[in-house]
Amino acid sequence: MCYPDNLVGALILISTETKNYSMTHIPIAIVGAGMTGLAAARKLPPSSYQIFEKSRGPGGRLASKRIEQQRADIGAQFFTVRDPRFQALVELARSAGAIQSWKPRMGTFQSSIPIGSPDTQTRYVGAPYMNALGRFLSQSVRIESRTRIDTIRRDGSDFVLTTTTGAEYPAEQVLVTTPVDQMADLLAQFEIAPIVTQFTMEPTWTTVVSSDQQLTTSMHEPIDACFGGDHGVFDFISVERSKPGRDSDLIVVQASPEWSKVHLEHDPSWIAQTIATELTNTFDIATEPVLSHRWRYARPTDPKMTSQKGIYQVDAGLWIAGDYLAGGRVEGAYLAGFEAAERLS
Ligand SMILES: Cc1cc2nc3c(=O)[nH]c(=O)nc-3n(C[C@H](O)[C@H](O)[C@H](O)COP(=O)(O)OP(=O)(O)OC[C@H]3O[C@@H](n4cnc5c(N)ncnc54)[C@H](O)[C@@H]3O)c2cc1C
Repeated sequence: MCYPDNLVGALILISTETKNYSMTHIPIAIVGAGMTGLAAARKLPPSSYQIFEKSRGPGGRLASKRIEQQRADIGAQFFTVRDPRFQALVELARSAGAIQSWKPRMGTFQSSIPIGSPDTQTRYVGAPYMNALGRFLSQSVRIESRTRIDTIRRDGSDFVLTTTTGAEYPAEQVLVTTPVDQMADLLAQFEIAPIVTQFTMEPTWTTVVSSDQQLTTSMHEPIDACFGGDHGVFDFISVERSKPGRDSDLIVVQASPEWSKVHLEHDPSWIAQTIATELTNTFDIATEPVLSHRWRYARPTDPKMTSQKGIYQVDAGLWIAGDYLAGGRVEGAYLAGFEAAERLS
C-alpha cells in the first residue's frame, strides 16, 4: 500500500484505528535516515515505524559541511531523474524550495587534460545545500537520531535491535538501509552471504579547497564542473559558487575510487594538501586546502549489477534496501525506499 504525501496526515488516524499496534513493539524498525530510509518512512503510516539514525541529522550521504562562514556539499554533488515516481518527489521538493536545478558548464578529462564536455542533462542540487533535501524529506518523519544500532537478533517471530548504549527495541519487522558493509556487520547472525559477496562498495576521499580563480579547459573555456574521465586522481570536481544561491570560493574535489583506495588510511590533511596541489598543477590556479572527508562506503563498485527493485528479503520480516541494490545513486536510493514501503505495509 502506498500513501501519497498529501494523505499522510489523514492516514495517521486510519492506521491507528485499524492496526492497533502494541505500544512496546515497533511494527517496522528502520535503520538509517538517508534517502532510502526517509523515502520508506514517508510512504508508511506514521504510527507504524520508528527510524534509528546514528548521526545528528537526516540525509546520510546527501551531506554538506559547515566551513567557518561557508558550507559545501561533501557527499552527492547533484542528482538526476528518470523515473516518474522520483520525478513526483522532485517536483514537490522543488516547489518547497528544497532543491533547484543546476546548469554547470561541464568538462571532462581526456589523456588527463581538461576538455569541454557540454551536455543537456538536467541536474538538481539541494538548496541552499544538499542536506536541505534530507531535511525536507524528514519533515513529516519521526527520527530517533544519535542512536546507533549495534546488533539485530531474532526473538521468536520478532526482532530485537540493540543500540551501542545497550537500549533494546523489539520490532515486528526490520528494514536496514545502511551501506552494504555496515549492513553485513549488523546482520552477521543472518544469511546475508549471497548479498555481501555480490555487492561491494568503494571509498571516496572528498576534498574541499578554496580558490577564487576560474577553472578552465586546456582551450581556456570556463567550466563549473568536471568529470574525472581518464584522470587517475579526479572523479568529479565542482565549483560551489556555480550552484544556485551559493557564493563561496570553495571547490569540491572527489578523488577516484582507485586513488581513494590506495590512500584510504592517509591523514586527511595530507590528502587535502595533495589534492590541492594536483588541482593547482592541472588547472594552473592558486588553491588552499581546506579539509578532506573520507567516505569508506561511497558508491557501489559496479552499479550496473544492481537490480532495479532495490530491496531484498533476508529472512521473514527482515528486509534490506539501499542504493547498492538500485543503481547506486540518489534516485535509486529513493526508489529502493519507495519499494520497501510497498512490501512492508
Ligand atoms: C562522495 C559521494 C558522491 C556521490 N555523488 C553522487 C552523485 O553525484 N549523484 C548521485 O545520484 N548520487 C551520488 N552519490 C550517492 C548518493 O549519495 C547515494 O546513492 C544516496 O545518498 C544513498 O542513500 P541511502 O539512504 O541508500 O544511504 P545513506 O545515505 O548512506 O544512508 C544510510 C544511513 O544509515 C545511517 N547508519 C549507518 N549505520 C547505522 C547504524 N548502525 N545505526 C543507525 N544508523 C546507521 C547513516 O548514518 C546514514 O544516515 C554520492 C555519494 C558519495 C558518498
